This record gives sequence, C-alpha cells and structure tokens, in this order.
Amino acid sequence: MTTTLQDCQALDAADPLRRLREQFQIPEGTIYLDGNSLGVMPASAPARVAQVVTQEWGTDLIQSWNRHGWFQMPGKVGDKIARLIGAGPGEVVATDSTSVNLFKVLSAALAMVQADAPQRKRIVSERSNFPTDLYIAQALCRQHGMELVLVEPEEIATSLTAEVAVLMLTHVNYRTGAMHDMAALTAAAHAEGILTVWDLAHSAGAVPVDLTEAKADFAVGCGYKYLNGGPGAPAFVWVNPLHTDRFWQPLAGWWGHAAPFAFTPDYRPAPGITRYQCGTQPMISLAALECGVDTVLAAESMGGMAALRAKSLALTDLFIGLVQQRCAGHGLGLATPREHARRGSQVCLTRDEGAYAIVQALIARGVIGDFRAGDGGLHKDILRFGFTPLYIGFEDVWHSVEHLRQVLDSGEWQRPEFNRKHAVT
Ligand SMILES: *Cc1c(COP(=O)(O)O)cnc(C)c1O
Repeated sequence: MTTTLQDCQALDAADPLRRLREQFQIPEGTIYLDGNSLGVMPASAPARVAQVVTQEWGTDLIQSWNRHGWFQMPGKVGDKIARLIGAGPGEVVATDSTSVNLFKVLSAALAMVQADAPQRKRIVSERSNFPTDLYIAQALCRQHGMELVLVEPEEIATSLTAEVAVLMLTHVNYRTGAMHDMAALTAAAHAEGILTVWDLAHSAGAVPVDLTEAKADFAVGCGYKYLNGGPGAPAFVWVNPLHTDRFWQPLAGWWGHAAPFAFTPDYRPAPGITRYQCGTQPMISLAALECGVDTVLAAESMGGMAALRAKSLALTDLFIGLVQQRCAGHGLGLATPREHARRGSQVCLTRDEGAYAIVQALIARGVIGDFRAGDGGLHKDILRFGFTPLYIGFEDVWHSVEHLRQVLDSGEWQRPEFNRKHAVT
C-alpha cells in the first residue's frame, strides 16, 4: 500500500506527542534529522542561560554556589537523567565529557577485575564502535598491559571468554543505528565473570533503557545528542551502586572528595556517584543541559520514554517505507535493522557512490542529516538520519524523502559544490 502526504498529515494530527515540538526553536525551513549529533535548542535555554550569566554570575557571584544550588547541579541534573535510563536518584552525575567519563569507569572496571582476576587481560568491543571509545580503551590497555579485541556484532557472544576483563559496548551503534540487547549481553558477560561498560550516547532520551533491570555495571552517555543539552554539554556517568564505593576513579579531584571544603591534603572519596566528579563544573553549560533534559522529561505525563519510543519507531518505519517506495532504483541500501528490537532512533542508508554529496545537497535544501565515512570494506559510506520524536513529525518524514528523491532523480548531488569535503562531516 502506498503512503501519501495526506496520510502523513493525518498521523501528525493524531499524534498525542505533537505539542512537545513547541518546546524547541527549530529554524524556519529546516527539517532537522541530526538530533543524534547535536539536539535542537530548547526554547527555554536562551533565557535560562542569560539568567545564569546576568543574575547568578553577574550579580550574585560567589554566593551562587549556595544561593542558586550551583554546587549540587551535577547531581540534580544527574537525577533527572537517571529517570530516563532506569537508574535511581543519587546514582548519576552530569559531568565532564563522554570520553572522560569512559576513562573513569573503564579504569574502575579494570581495577575491580585486576583485584579479583588478574589473569583477565582483554577488553572486548565492537570494531565499528565510536572511535573515541576505542581510543580511550587503547590508552588504558597500554597503561595496564592489556589487549583491546575488536569484533563484529555477531562475534560478541563467542568472544566472552575467561581471558576477558570487560565488555565495552555502545548500546546503539552511531553508524548503523543497530541496538544491542543490553540485558542479554550483560547476563552473558556476567556468566563468564566479565564486567560491562555501556555507552548510552545514542540511547539516553532516544530509546527506553533500564540499567537497573539489566544489572549493568557501568554506563556513560552524552548530553548534547538526544538530551538537547547544547554543544559540548556535560555528559553523564552511572555506576551500579554495588560497585560505586569499591574503588577510586583515577581522576580524583576535589569535587569527588568526601569533604571538599575541609581542604585536607589527603584524598578521601565521597560516597556514591559524587566521587566520579573531578574538578569545578561548568554552571552555564549545566543550566543549558537541564533545559534539554527537561524537554525529554516533559513527555513523562504523556507516556514517557515508551510513548517516545513508539513514535520514534513509527517515524523510522515510515522513512524506510517511503525511501523504498519513492527512491527505488537509485542504489540505496539500508544499514539499519528493520527489526524494532534491534533499531535505535536513526536510519542509515548506504550508497556505493556519492553518499557525502547527497547529504550536502539535502542540507542545501534544508534537510539536515549527516555523513559517516565507511572503511572501504565491510562498513560502507553512510547517509545518517536521526529522528527525535520530540520535534520531528510524520510530514517532516514525507518532505525529507521527497527531497531525497528529487536530489537523486535530478542528479543534483553531482554538482561540484556538494562534493567538496568540510572539516566536520
Ligand atoms: C557522540 C559520542 C561520543 C562523544 O564523546 P565526547 O567525549 O562528547 O566527544 C562518545 N561515544 C559515543 C558512542 C558517541 O556516539
């Protein structure tokens, strides 16, 4: 059955979440399919940031640490993020970057394993994991005399052997949008005595996550993607309460001290997740991040992450169906799993030639997606489209596929200006 523009408009009219879009300032004439890379600005952010700058910083100055709760901000925002990832209050802090937080939790995981099972010398991860995760793991392997073993998704289960210390995975793959079964892989790892570290960069605010139910060990995630926290927003870190107090994390700064204002020369880690803070935290950025997290929490009264997930799947199903229906014969492949249980909130198309230029031609038309380079082998060049159900509607999906069809039918993407590479793709 073919889908029409009118069908898409009817889906928007019947969408119980459609008003959530009013929380955002979406540029005129833009269909923004890149919320998986940098979320749209919440409409509340400019005034809130201005207030932090002019009132809290400008007028109240140093007193704001107490008067405006600055000191508690990482935990306050962390508690809000916790509600989106199946964590409890006091288990998450919003702090530092994803890369830095990964360094902390992976270090803690390795320290835990080395105490109990020093013969375990491997970290297992996925070859197409986001590179920063692999770089951080490589650095720690050099430091600890360990080995990073990279496998394809279907090889993970058989790679969980007695030599492995940690299984480090990104829940939703940044290139393909493929989603792992967190609970099943965590159970499989634990059965072999292996700890798990999960990166939720493409999961938090995008798909339901239940770290507690999955019995995961450590998790980190990103503030500027589906949490709409702004460029370079603080990331977050969660540690299973069973482990939190067992080890110092390696970046033992004073914000992770049990009594930072005692100014004692000896480090004594704070109980709980607070010890995962290092130094003084960015208040302006945390205020913007809180605005972003609040845009996701606004769905709580409308069915929460389950409702957002249902809409996200409907959007990605529609996009896949329309691409098939309207762009057939143009050499597009699908890198994202069709199976709902294995799909995140993005759709990735492949094409042997011109993927970068097609994305550029779409951007020139106001349809913002992005391009991720392949490796010339198993992993192909990708046209990546993220669907944030908070602000993307079904008619947006229709128009984005229509633009894609026109770009392909006309050969517009072959124009030289669309074939010049920028520094950031
Ligand atoms: C986006 C992303 C990051 C980003 O890390 P930064 O430290 O914020 O630059 C890390 N890991 C994954 C899997 C990501 O998708």
